[in-house]
Parts: sequence; C-alpha cells; structure tokens
Amino acid sequence: MARARELFPGGVSSPVRAFGGVGGEPFVVARGDGARIWDVDGREMIDFVLSWGPLILGHAPPVVLDALEATMRGGTSFGIPTELEVTLAEMVRQRMPHVAMLRFVSSGTEATMSAVRLARAFTGRTKLLKYDGCYHGHADSFLVRAGSGVATLGLPNSPGVPDALAALTITASFNDLEETRSLAARHGADLAAIIVEPVVGNAGFIPPDPAFLRGLREIADDTGALLIFDEVMTGFRIAPGGAAERFGVRADLTTLGKVIGGGLPVAAYGGRAELMQMIAPSGPVYQAGTLSGNPLAMAAGIATLRALTSEVHDRIAARTAHLVEGLRHAAAGLGVPFSADCAGSMWGFFFRAEPVRSYRDARDADVAFFRRFFHAALDRGVYLAPSPFEAAFMSAAHGDPEIDQALERLEAAMRAARDG
Ligand code: PMP
Repeated sequence: MARARELFPGGVSSPVRAFGGVGGEPFVVARGDGARIWDVDGREMIDFVLSWGPLILGHAPPVVLDALEATMRGGTSFGIPTELEVTLAEMVRQRMPHVAMLRFVSSGTEATMSAVRLARAFTGRTKLLKYDGCYHGHADSFLVRAGSGVATLGLPNSPGVPDALAALTITASFNDLEETRSLAARHGADLAAIIVEPVVGNAGFIPPDPAFLRGLREIADDTGALLIFDEVMTGFRIAPGGAAERFGVRADLTTLGKVIGGGLPVAAYGGRAELMQMIAPSGPVYQAGTLSGNPLAMAAGIATLRALTSEVHDRIAARTAHLVEGLRHAAAGLGVPFSADCAGSMWGFFFRAEPVRSYRDARDADVAFFRRFFHAALDRGVYLAPSPFEAAFMSAAHGDPEIDQALERLEAAMRAARDG
C-alpha cells in the first residue's frame, strides 16, 4: 500500500477500496477460491463483497476459467463481430425478453451514461430524475446526491460537474411515490428519463415497496419519460430475469453489468428495438468502444449465465435468506438494534431497529457501530463491504459450512462491536 499510495490517489483504483468508510488500512488481496480470498500476508477470509457483485459463482470457478482458457488461445480481442457476443446477447434476451436489442459496453458507467443519452435523444428532452443514494456510475449527470463511494466519502455532488449539467438532474427520495408524482407534475414536459436501482444496493440494501416500481411505470407513461432500470447490480442476481421478472414491472431501457461478465469487464444497455435502433450505426445516437464485446469477457459471461440455472439461483437465495435470518437472530440475542433483508443473492443490513426504506433512513443507522463491526468481522476472517452504504452478495460457492462459519464469526463480531 505504501508503493500504491505513491502511484494512485488514495492508493487505490476505485475509491471505496481505500477503507475511507471504516478507517484503517485496506488489505492487499493475493488470490481467491470459491467463497474465500487470501491477502498477501496469507490471511484467509470468507468474502461477501465478491468483487462488488460480479462473482455469483464465487472466485475462480472452473467453468469460467475453462471458457477463458479455451477462448484466449484463439486471440484476446479483434474489434470486429464475433459469434460469442451474439450468444451472450441471446442468453440475455432469453432471460429478459424486454431487452429486445442491446449494446455491449465495458462498465456499468458506460451503460447508464449511454442509456441516458439515448433517452434524451428519443424524447428530445433534457431532464433526468434519479433517487437519493442511488449510484449509477460516475458520469457527470449521476454525481448528484449519489450513493456508493460518493456517499461513503461524503462527496455526493462532485466538483468538476458543470452546474448547468447538474441542474438537469432532479433527485427524489426512494420509495416516496408522492414526491416523484409532484416532481413529475412540475418537470414532466422536460423529463427524458426516470432512472432507478429497482432494489437499491448503493445506499446499503433497500428493497422497493411493492407499489413503488409500479407507480414509477405509471408516472413515466403519464409524462412520456422513459423508465430506466439500472440492473447493473440486480440483473441475473435477484432473479434470473432481474427486477423486471421479480417485480413484474417493465422498464423501457435496462442497464446491466457485474454478473453479465462473470468477473470480466462487461456491461450492456438495451430495450425495445424501436429505441435501440436509434443507436449508431442504425441511428444517429453515437456510442462506441474499442473493447466492447471483448471475446474473453463474453466467454466469461456466457459460462456464468449458463451455470446459473434456476436451481442454482434458488439455492443461493435460500442460503442468503438463511444467513440474514441468522444475523437477525444473533442481533436480537445480543440486544443490538439491527435490520437486515435480502432479494435473491443480494443482501444487506443496518444497525437500526426499524427497516430502512430510503437513503435518509440509511444515514440514520449507527455508522460508528458499523465501523467497529466491520473491523471485528475482518479480524475474524469475514470480509464485508468496507462501507455502510453498500449491499452484500452471496455466491454459489458459499455452501452451508461457509454460511455457518460466517454466522459464528459475525455473531462474535457483533458482540465485540457492542462491547467495544
Ligand atoms: N449502476 C449500479 C447500480 C452500480 O451498482 C454500479 C457500480 N457499483 C454502476 C452502475 C457503475 O458500474 P461500473 O462501476 O462498472 O462503472
């Protein structure tokens, strides 16, 4: 880390890794296998961060490694069409029929940024409605009251974003349909898109009220704005078909990332053909990428989605629910104010007795307790996201022994945090 700090701002390649949200020094990882990672000092940890969501099969799954090896021997990048990208796109569309056409990109940021450009072009409007604490990547329009690292570091509005652009982003409180309705009444004629994490993972884990997403669909229809589900985190994770399948609400545009690349850089945006046909070269909305649809990344995505049968989904979801229930039980036994929840293999918790429904609630949780708990868990060999404003994940490699071991260690960590 001393060498890294000479080279990188904060010694890291992405902000939350620096442990700014919890204090102390980040560990330097050496390798991973299944549910576990090891740092360069040989310390072993059960990993619930999983590269921030992509590794739904765990670390170094043989099916992905085999696919990568076989693919790379034929060359690592071409910048011309390959069959692999067609295969992965067909697999996406099979699981998400509302994604009739799509474009592969290399990061979630590119996907959301491009989806908003398309929404603005399609509607001929400029304004964007997003939700406090939701994170949609680091494009200028999203760095307004954002979640994830910007929330962790207390930088919700970033310098460098021109005021004129930031003024086009309107923010509302998640799960507050009335507020969205009144904002839509005020800005509706200028509103290009409503973008939302259907289950929030970047302000901690916050599930939507059943009526909230349906209400957003109606408001989008009433105003003529497009509804964008940012499923970078939820896609292929909270259900095989993501939030659209789980909640039965159709978005106009969907952004995907993380699981779709199985640990390699893949993201995508897509939706109705009529919309996607506006993207160059079919239409005039420009968006491109040298490494988009990269064969290694496509191969990892294909292998991952292929392994993710509905039985595997169900099994991971059941283990996630078991872990969450175990944590609730432990907290109750220790008298620690606590709430926890999950959707599929995405989960999270807050040190707050009442359930968290919005970013405001999330900030009301006991952050000092979280910091003590995070370090106590790490000392006992459980790696959780180093911020109270991040969801946790589960993989197919987390079997019953790992879950039992994690529960034991996390209960001890909770006791230490309470007494410390
Ligand atoms: N949208 C959501 C919902 C995310 O969780 C993230 C990243 N955590 C992004 C977009 C941005 O993705 P990336 O970091 O790949 O740019």
